[in-house]
Amino acid sequence: MKAAVYYDVNDIRTEDRALPELEAGEALIKMHACGLCGTDIHKAVHKTVKPGTVLGHEVGGEIVKLGEGVGNFRIGDRVFVAHHVPCFTCHACQRGHHTVCKQWKETNIEPGGFSEYIRLSPLHVKHSMVKLPDSVTYEQAAMMEPTACALRAVERAGIRPGDSVMVVGTGQVGAILLQLSKAWHAGLVIANDVSEYRLEMARKLGADRIINGAKEDTMASVMEMTEGQGVDVIFVAAAVPALLSSAVNCAAKGGTVLSFAIFNQDTTVSVVANRICMDEVSLIGSYSSTPFEYPTVLQLIRSHVIDVDSMVTHRFPLSKLNEAIRTATDPEERCLKVMITPD
Ligand SMILES: [Zn+2]
Ligand SMILES: [Zn+2]
Repeated sequence: MKAAVYYDVNDIRTEDRALPELEAGEALIKMHACGLCGTDIHKAVHKTVKPGTVLGHEVGGEIVKLGEGVGNFRIGDRVFVAHHVPCFTCHACQRGHHTVCKQWKETNIEPGGFSEYIRLSPLHVKHSMVKLPDSVTYEQAAMMEPTACALRAVERAGIRPGDSVMVVGTGQVGAILLQLSKAWHAGLVIANDVSEYRLEMARKLGADRIINGAKEDTMASVMEMTEGQGVDVIFVAAAVPALLSSAVNCAAKGGTVLSFAIFNQDTTVSVVANRICMDEVSLIGSYSSTPFEYPTVLQLIRSHVIDVDSMVTHRFPLSKLNEAIRTATDPEERCLKVMITPD
């Protein structure tokens, strides 16, 4: 089977690998679509993974082989697959923080999503594989993982009907966050970015107002749009420290700022301290997704509450992953979401 193997920046090679052997409880999936995630791009560009790694984790595929004892799936089933499985019993899991569970980080699909075939462990088969209805396409299935990440963030932020919401950074997850905010009956959804293209997409996907942070004073625009109140819920989906500080200032009294941005390890951010106590602004985070979100996102995508189809702007075959990453990182490209398909 072919797999796209990472060696260095701009050096991902298509290699032949042996088809994985299956043990009891396992499944072999043929990949039909795998989304190129911001985290894949970050890993490939900043070299945070070892050479020999196969990236990719947003998978829509088909079961081609099953190990002994898998009762609830059949060969030929079309499925969504996610890469990590929490233990459900550790300290973090018991407190609802399944994405910081030790097992969650240690589990993975083999060799990775950017491969013709993928082996799933019994834990994955049990908890992170979801059968697709006929009406859901493989690409829509591949969009379930980022949608699940956004759903978890929206639930953690606790949007109430009528709330004003601002999404800072309307890239691939920001574009879902703003759609979910609309679906959660936010009264006003503001898209804030520095890319005219992403703002144009945000507008198409339902943002009520847009702010180009490169051209306008975000604070002044926010205050004008919210009659001086500030924004009730702000998602920061861009890893720029100043945006997190500014979001805390743009929040309404009693508002929530949720960081959905993965910063470099040693990044520190300063915020106006009294906004936290005296203005009761909550500063929280949300990381990735859990099996609890998958059934809900399947329904949201299936019923077109969230439009993921319009988000897919580029498609590349497995052997062109280098080109796919270059396209996704080129500011001149009108690119929101890249899908990788088999060769
Ligand atoms: Zn992802
Ligand atoms: Zn756990």
